[in-house]
Amino acid sequence: MVSAPTRSDAAGAVQTWGNYIAGEWRPAKSGATFENRNPANRNDLIGRFAASGADDVEAAIAAAAEAFESWRLTSPIVRANLLHKAANILESRVSEVGRDLTREEGKTLKEGIGETGRAVQILRYYAGEAQQPSGEHYPSMGQNTLLYTVREPLGPTAIITPWNFPIAIPAWKIAPALAFGNTVVFKPATLTPLCAVRLVEALADAGLPAGVLNLITGSASQIADPLVEDARIVAISFTGSNETGGKLRKVTAARGAKLQLELGGKNPAIVLADADVDHALQQVLAGAMMSTGQKCTATSRAIVDRRLAAEFTEKLGDRIRGLRVGDPLQADTQIGPLIDEASADRVAGEVEAARNAGTRLVAGGGRLTDQGRDKGAFVAPTLFADVDSSSRLGQEELFGPVLGVIPVDGLDEAIAVANSVKFGLSASLFTRDLGKALAFVQSIQAGVVHVNSETAGAEPQVPFGGMKGSSSYSREQGKAAREFFTQVKTVYIDPPPAA
Ligand code: ADP
Repeated sequence: MVSAPTRSDAAGAVQTWGNYIAGEWRPAKSGATFENRNPANRNDLIGRFAASGADDVEAAIAAAAEAFESWRLTSPIVRANLLHKAANILESRVSEVGRDLTREEGKTLKEGIGETGRAVQILRYYAGEAQQPSGEHYPSMGQNTLLYTVREPLGPTAIITPWNFPIAIPAWKIAPALAFGNTVVFKPATLTPLCAVRLVEALADAGLPAGVLNLITGSASQIADPLVEDARIVAISFTGSNETGGKLRKVTAARGAKLQLELGGKNPAIVLADADVDHALQQVLAGAMMSTGQKCTATSRAIVDRRLAAEFTEKLGDRIRGLRVGDPLQADTQIGPLIDEASADRVAGEVEAARNAGTRLVAGGGRLTDQGRDKGAFVAPTLFADVDSSSRLGQEELFGPVLGVIPVDGLDEAIAVANSVKFGLSASLFTRDLGKALAFVQSIQAGVVHVNSETAGAEPQVPFGGMKGSSSYSREQGKAAREFFTQVKTVYIDPPPAA
């Protein structure tokens, strides 16, 4: 049977977790479950989760549609208080939930706890945003006309999230959806259902009314279509692969739903000859390898001035070889596993293909199976030198701990190479030259631009999103979230004619 979530699992006991629909934790109607295992150790069974079907989706959408009628009229101040309370609850659990995240997703404990803390910060930020003005007052041609706009909620929304930030990304979509009066059907990645449960639990424990937030776990092949094709779902916020994003474009265009996509990246870090090399090395290493390279904002191309390229590549190779790769629950581990076996095999295959194509391997280069790492999805952090920008390694997102160095002659060529991919999410430049920094900011095709810091990182109070194939021209977080999760009503109010 499904139990309400508990936060301290008895040692050895494997729990079964339900969906959260209309304010209740429930098993899938079919009773089916699926297993969730630790990517660092496949013998570690984390739990069993509801393998939902179309009838569970129907129940979740019906609950979200019903709850919308009162949630849309609930004072934003009341919504803000609920988000504040959920933030406090999640904060009180940050160590446990961070540990769950690491066990389920595989990033290091420091990153797991850090990401959970970020989800807390996001909930707090949107508690504040809910209390900001939601419209504007305008002058009118009419002498006595009160003319203003007000932003209203959209309705029941679908939030579809990936596994790589299994609590922060759901938080940064769900918090604004709720803050601005929408209801939610939340479909997390199949590989990270426990983090989804933990987030929903904090919001449920804060006293969110039944039906306002509904969680359905399971495989996209069973539940995605009934969710995204349902006319009651008026908007979809999605982060994931370009392939799935493309399918959602078609579905939502056909039925006229609002859509927000956050997709892939092939993010460049440009290192100019005048850069502080030590700082650039440290930042490029972090950008490429933290979270095992599984961030959409990860650095996957180091575009380095040719005068520096050999020295930079050699030093970077030394640092990459020195990274401690292993069980992310161990405090001294720097790099955990990939999310699952299939990903590890896929990334190792890409590395093999690049080697076979003649690209020079400097560090890493395949699966790691010694020191107990045969039980998990481990791939060695990998560096290639003298990468051809037009090759697969130079163009495609590998989503793993793989970095290629591309030598260039100066800033103009660096920017041309940086812009030569279909993506445009984030980009970095390392230089001491202010003029070059400004030229880079002006010409780089990326939605998030850094000078002298790594490509990864997104603070909740500013817009986040990409250009070109990385996004859908909308932005998430900061004030941009209000634009996506609301619509404008323009109101003319005139006094009745004098009797
Ligand atoms: P990733 O490579 O990050 O797993 P996916 O696009 O496969 O990228 O998955 C991101 C999210 O989208 C997950 O929650 C996944 O279950 C969901 N998803 C997968 N296929 C579809 C689909 N056809 N429609 C809607 N959501 C989907």
